[in-house]
Amino acid sequence: MFALDTDDFAHIVREYDLAPFRLKQIREWIFGKYADDFRQMTNLPGALRTELAARYQVTESRIAAHRKTRDGTVKLLVRYPDGAAVEAVLMEYRNWTSACLSTQVGCAMGCTFCATGPLGFVRNLSWPELAEELWHCHWFAARHGLKPLRNMVLMGIGEPLANLDNVVKLVETASSPEFFNMGQRRIAISTVGLIPEIYKLARCKLAITLAVSLHAPNDALRNKLMPVTARYPLQDLLDACRNYTVMTGRRITFEYLLIDGVNDSSEHARELADLLKGFNCLVNLIQLNRVPGTAWRPSTRTDVFKKELEQRGINVTVRRSLGAEIDAACGQLRRGTLQA
Ligand code: SF4
Repeated sequence: MFALDTDDFAHIVREYDLAPFRLKQIREWIFGKYADDFRQMTNLPGALRTELAARYQVTESRIAAHRKTRDGTVKLLVRYPDGAAVEAVLMEYRNWTSACLSTQVGCAMGCTFCATGPLGFVRNLSWPELAEELWHCHWFAARHGLKPLRNMVLMGIGEPLANLDNVVKLVETASSPEFFNMGQRRIAISTVGLIPEIYKLARCKLAITLAVSLHAPNDALRNKLMPVTARYPLQDLLDACRNYTVMTGRRITFEYLLIDGVNDSSEHARELADLLKGFNCLVNLIQLNRVPGTAWRPSTRTDVFKKELEQRGINVTVRRSLGAEIDAACGQLRRGTLQA
């Protein structure tokens, strides 16, 4: 990504003998106006614009395809120079647009309800690649008249905390006034619950929301739905979450995907309320979106389950499901459903 890394830019400054303020000007064009061509940068000298356009690109990746639903949700296929591709989703709300980004090409976690799991893991996205994915979302929202992109959730393909260093750099870039200038409180990161990485993230003291996928009130059921969690017992996970809140002052969100006849009974609600008793947290109930090839069906008990938790003093919200029509809803992203 051009002008992302000041050190990388230094050799261009030397080669063209640029004044220091030129980097600021270029960044304003790229990250303020989402200019995708140096020739648009009208306050740069004409010869410099022509030279940069001949030798560099603003991004190395590109939007290879996109699809839009009737509810306004857009799915983008972002393709990198090595051929790897990930999907990002733009969801429009009342006054803003939220971008859901992928953090890895494929995923190694193998969650049984997810379209990505069976496809396996290919590689991590680097920090500049993540920044490009976010940039494409901003570019698309600006060029296609969507509401301003203000929120970012890392809940697409991949386990963000398995790519922690790059994800932390992305959050710092996204929130920097020099780049995307998004408030950290408008950024959420999801995890299946990788305990060592939750402790590491806590030490970074970011103001983001950490969304931990619970999906079950006990280890046996949780391990069945998300096999990787066998290494991370629930009580140890809750300790890591408590530490996260102490270190950052941020309340944890626990994600709970409601699956018909699997984890949505009154007994499950009681067990979940007992587990989280006295914990300063929010439970976010999610409607399962059907994924072909999986046996799970959406629960019909969402409202009842919500009431059962609330009666036991748990803070609960229900996530609005957008984008199911184009397989852009939670758990439905996968490599290659959009064709370039
Ligand atoms: S739900 Fe997330 S962590 Fe689990 S397999 Fe799918 S992409 Fe990976």
